Amino acid sequence: MAEPKSATIPVSIYEYVLEYLDIAAKKISLDPNLLKIIEQPRKVTIVKLPIQMDDGSFQVFTGYRVQHSTVRGPGKGGIRYHPKVNLDEVSALAAWMTWKSAIMGIPFGGAKGGITCDPKKLSMGELERLTRRYTADLADILGPEKDIPAPDVNTNAQTMAWIMDTYSMHTGEYKSSVVTGKPVVLGGSRGRHDATGNGVGITVREAAKAKGLKLEECTAAIQGFGNVGSIAALSLVKMGIKVVAVSDVNGALENKGGIPIKVLIDYAKENNGSIVGFPDAKVIEADKILTYPCDILIPAALENVITKENAADIKANIIGEGANGPTTPEADKILYDKGLTVIPDILCNAGGVTVSYFEWVQDRLGYFWTEDDVNNRLEEHMVRAFRHVHDVSEEFDCSLRIASYILAVKRVTDVLLLRGVYA
Ligand code: NAD
Repeated sequence: MAEPKSATIPVSIYEYVLEYLDIAAKKISLDPNLLKIIEQPRKVTIVKLPIQMDDGSFQVFTGYRVQHSTVRGPGKGGIRYHPKVNLDEVSALAAWMTWKSAIMGIPFGGAKGGITCDPKKLSMGELERLTRRYTADLADILGPEKDIPAPDVNTNAQTMAWIMDTYSMHTGEYKSSVVTGKPVVLGGSRGRHDATGNGVGITVREAAKAKGLKLEECTAAIQGFGNVGSIAALSLVKMGIKVVAVSDVNGALENKGGIPIKVLIDYAKENNGSIVGFPDAKVIEADKILTYPCDILIPAALENVITKENAADIKANIIGEGANGPTTPEADKILYDKGLTVIPDILCNAGGVTVSYFEWVQDRLGYFWTEDDVNNRLEEHMVRAFRHVHDVSEEFDCSLRIASYILAVKRVTDVLLLRGVYA
């Protein structure tokens, strides 16, 4: 079992993937030969990217693309720009994409990419050159039928537009379906921006229903107020839940009467993304957010934040993992033993990849849906996936996380067996 994160011992996130995979495989007595195949990424590409900086000097950046599985369809997964991007993290994120797509029943495999860089220190011109060089180096392994990137931490619709343009220049064809999360005028889908947060809200609602909780009597605390956290908060408020505490990288706030989330979103937009200084709430210590007294906790910022050190102090009844990998396996066990419902990342935040799938479908059709169409289909997909996972958790008497892995592993290996192993 992987050790929890500390200042000195780096954690292998991929170990988490293997640990859960192993538990799920045992529960369904998976053929060890199949396990051997799915526990490793299918293809790993590392590129060294020489970029001319604005001052005329050159810097060489390292980029990754890990295609974990293409068994159920082309690779699918975001691209992250961050100083801590490394092969272990990208590989784990790629594997999670495989499981997410399988749980949602969408015809994709799993992939992820990243460049080790600090985007805050790069100009727009440097970011564009870095993105184009990364895309050019990977052009042979990307494509609507091969592997379809999307935004992740520190990348956005503009990054996707550069990728789409570079790829189209290389292939000589207008290929909007090579990426998702694009601007709507370039073939992006309506509803994509809010999809992950809305999906978090839908799964929380379903979990509350399963536990017999009344939404209008529930309170919530949210760590992270970026794309996922802010939209998840809004979605919960629309369901009648009171959001009483939120935090971001700069600090944390509480209002026991309920934070006016729409007003806070507008405030953050005007304040460089930060919630600090918001007048309608009181400042609290940032590290109190995860153990804040509430019914629903949404970690929507970072990996490895719920650990064996704080798991026992969590007061919430339901945790909806908006972020990828927020809970260590040791903490997960403590939470399960306490009777908490943890909606695992590979189910809870899968609204994003689901609407990415809708975007890919619309691009290939050349016919675009209304926002209501997208939201209705998202609702249908999230509810169906939640129920499938919930049924498996009852059948195997296990957590929703292990049930999600069981469902995903079964769906991937069933297709693998049908296709056969080209050995
Ligand atoms: P984002 O950059 O928009 O927001 C991140 C938020 O986390 C910001 O508010 C930031 O201030 C906050 N944060 C950073 N460090 C923090 C800390 N130490 N304490 C409290 N808050 C902190 O990113 P996002 O797109 O919202 O992604 C958040 C998480 O959700 C990531 O794990 C990402 O992989 C995952 N995710 C995102 C999507 C998507 O569609 N955006 C889909 C699936 C999963």
